[in-house]
Amino acid sequence: MTRPRPRSLGDVGEHAWLASLIPRLRSARRRRRVLVGPGDDAAVLGAGDRPLVLTTDALVEGTHFERGWASPRALGRRAYRVAASDVAAMGATPIAALLAVTAPPSMSARDLTGLTAGVAAEATAHGAALVGGNLARDARLALTVTVLGEAPGAVVRRSGARPGEVVVVTGALGAAAAHLANRRANRRAGRRVRLPEVPDRAAVGVALAGVVSAMIDLSDGLSQDLGHVCRASGVGAMVALADVPVAASCRRRFGPAAPAAALTGGEDYELLATLPPAALAVARRVAARHGVALAVVGRIVARPRGVRVVGPDGRPWTPARGGFDHFR
Ligand SMILES: [Mg+2]
Repeated sequence: MTRPRPRSLGDVGEHAWLASLIPRLRSARRRRRVLVGPGDDAAVLGAGDRPLVLTTDALVEGTHFERGWASPRALGRRAYRVAASDVAAMGATPIAALLAVTAPPSMSARDLTGLTAGVAAEATAHGAALVGGNLARDARLALTVTVLGEAPGAVVRRSGARPGEVVVVTGALGAAAAHLANRRANRRAGRRVRLPEVPDRAAVGVALAGVVSAMIDLSDGLSQDLGHVCRASGVGAMVALADVPVAASCRRRFGPAAPAAALTGGEDYELLATLPPAALAVARRVAARHGVALAVVGRIVARPRGVRVVGPDGRPWTPARGGFDHFR
């Protein structure tokens, strides 16, 4: 009799594995100072008079970027913003960052200085400081940024969405999906394509925190990230494909298929939030003050659970792919 092969990460998938991990970390939640344990955009600690928010994110060469897609400084900025995006989604302001780098010995010292300067400059722009980190050798370049933030009021969790509320997103979606598609086309032609900038939603995230009931940053794609909100809140959501705000580069790349690409593509790092319809005008004003557009893309329903999408013809629409998973 043959023993069954142990299941690989590819078999299980990133999100299913994380879902199995979280119950095993239950003891973390019982600690007095852990206000929000694993499973949200960031952890929340009660260590001072304001909630402290803590998150970490890695950018790995060959997975998230290739060298030449961005200047070292822009790559450092991106690594910081990707991590800070989770702090913004909790309604908190960054106060400090740590940077862990793995790099091959062949990498130029100047490039590493540029990367670090990108992280430090971006942290400073948010009123935060790069206070430490680690450097180790590896065949691939990887940047892991940890951000510590402070919430001026209560933190916003994924679990606050209620039936009858509207679902809004900041900015426009699909620029990262367009980049991915352009990259594939250009690799064949031997051309390099620059990574789109991660939007800076730090200030608007904090400003919206007083108005919204739930919030998440869009790292895995609207449909999948809204699914995380629905699961945490025990609700369902209806999304109108025609109402998804589409980035210009996504429209150019995908034409009529652009709204679908914007709905399912990952790495846009815009914010998605839910709020009562009566609060929408205030939320729009708050966002506008930060120069950010807010689009209503759907509403929260009690049943069925999960995300349903309605196509432009009013009929149910099923995405061809469900969003990003690192291992599948
Ligand atoms: Mg997140």
